[in-house]
Amino acid sequence: MNPPSRPKKSFGQHFLHERRYIERIVNAISPRPDDFLVEIGPGEGALTFPLLAAAGKLTAIELDTDLIPRLQANAADVGELSIVHADVLKVDFTALAHRAGVSCLRIAGNLPYYISSPILFHCVEHAAAISDMHFMLQKEVVDRMAAEPGSKVYGRLSVMLQLACRVEPLFEVPPGAFRPPPKVDSAVVRLVPIAPEARHDADPDRLHTIVKAAFAQRRKTLGNALRQWMDTDAIRQADVDPKARAETLSPADFVRLAKVETAS
Ligand code: SAM
Repeated sequence: MNPPSRPKKSFGQHFLHERRYIERIVNAISPRPDDFLVEIGPGEGALTFPLLAAAGKLTAIELDTDLIPRLQANAADVGELSIVHADVLKVDFTALAHRAGVSCLRIAGNLPYYISSPILFHCVEHAAAISDMHFMLQKEVVDRMAAEPGSKVYGRLSVMLQLACRVEPLFEVPPGAFRPPPKVDSAVVRLVPIAPEARHDADPDRLHTIVKAAFAQRRKTLGNALRQWMDTDAIRQADVDPKARAETLSPADFVRLAKVETAS
């Protein structure tokens, strides 16, 4: 058996080693034998093996080739581990669920922090094929995801995530729980996609454009920040004050802005 590989900075590798945090994450996920579990970034398997033991099977997506033989060998007596060697951002979760013949996936992972926001946006795109997600992230990112209007950290991530999912911060994890310790505090969050019938019906591209433009210049009034996309009359039609700033708007306000018919 190969010895454990040295954690690679370029892959955002910080391996979780403290048993009590591993147990808390697995308990929060509470895997059942009929779940179709997908883990993003199994690393050396800190979460993989307890999840596999509880669910009996698991699909893990790992980019680092060097980690795969060890994962495969260690899984042999635990359960059915299927490893997808790929960049998670290129994995089509909807197609994965379809191929597996299941309506929904349960996704988990101690995410590589260097691409945590792109991974979150990628998962949101496939929210209809996901029943829940449990992620370890930088605490600062979890704070932004769960932030409410008026908070300093409320922004694009808060609005887009809250329009797609219920965001439930669970608990914090200190740097010492990882090898090597990251420079930041971490936190575990649960995301539960909003049922399709309860989701907003704005055009997703338009919504994204409006939210991005509004927060790109968060010190400006909406009238100024959205000038390229809609005029002040259109903003008023959405029942929003053009003199307001993006950070004071609720996610529902952004949906109304995205739904206003504009001349352009
Ligand atoms: N789950 C392990 C643990 O808790 O100890 C490892 C977590 S480590 C923070 C992140 C993992 O994601 C590493 O195994 C890394 O190789 C993997 N990874 C990094 N970039 C990835 C990508 N684009 N797609 C899939 N996995 C990736």
